Amino acid sequence: MNKTLNRRDFIKTTSATTIGVVTVASGITLTTFASTNKVPVTNEKRWGMLIDTNKLTEADIDGMVSACQKEQGWGSELHSTGSQKPGWIKKVKVKDKATGKVSNLALMCQHCEEPPCVDVCPTNASMKREDGIVLVDKHLCIGCRYCMMACPYDARSFVHETLSNQKEHMPRGKGTVESCTMCVHKVDKGEVPACVTSVNSDAVIFGDLYDASSKINQTLKTVQSAQIRADLNLNTGVRYSGI
Ligand code: SF4
Ligand code: SF4
Repeated sequence: MNKTLNRRDFIKTTSATTIGVVTVASGITLTTFASTNKVPVTNEKRWGMLIDTNKLTEADIDGMVSACQKEQGWGSELHSTGSQKPGWIKKVKVKDKATGKVSNLALMCQHCEEPPCVDVCPTNASMKREDGIVLVDKHLCIGCRYCMMACPYDARSFVHETLSNQKEHMPRGKGTVESCTMCVHKVDKGEVPACVTSVNSDAVIFGDLYDASSKINQTLKTVQSAQIRADLNLNTGVRYSGI
């Protein structure tokens, strides 16, 4: 899954230090995802990722896509074709018109602090946990796809066909919308998302953006980072450096 985008249209550089002053909106319904979760989900954490496009190779991105497919059970749909195919994480090429430099990025749900997908959902199936992870409750999703239209990152997919062999932690169903869960079933057990684990370098760092001692927080203080479409002021949980 490749896309070529105009870099100027796509990103705006933003100061990494803006992350620390963000507060998660109050009144968000707390919905834990993994039944094994023993730690309460609170707004004292905000999970995020920092992707260094200078370090991340195309092979790394392919590995991330494969890891996500394996972990979440998408990608082996038999009857869906073309744009019908699910794509929780995509390889996106961004070209700087001035220098010609091409960067490859892994693009998944950006886990926005102000998620348009949640705003437009008529059934509250799209929701944001207090720790910033944005999810779809498949039991509430009626498949209207408003969230897909509202998402500026094309991060969501619609399941077009009857599926079998579902993962226990990730029930998927025909007629519902899905997207990156930040591997919440692993995160709630103190583990790291599958795509992050698949990269054999520190090109992708996962952690708590609010924790001053976390590697992601410390790194963000020392590098120039960007939000994709920062002009939308969605305050994404996924950040990029090197672009
Ligand atoms: S990237 Fe799209 S799907 Fe993810 S939280 Fe933002 S608006 Fe919602
Ligand atoms: S965090 Fe999990 S669900 Fe999201 S892209 Fe990575 S592997 Fe896929």
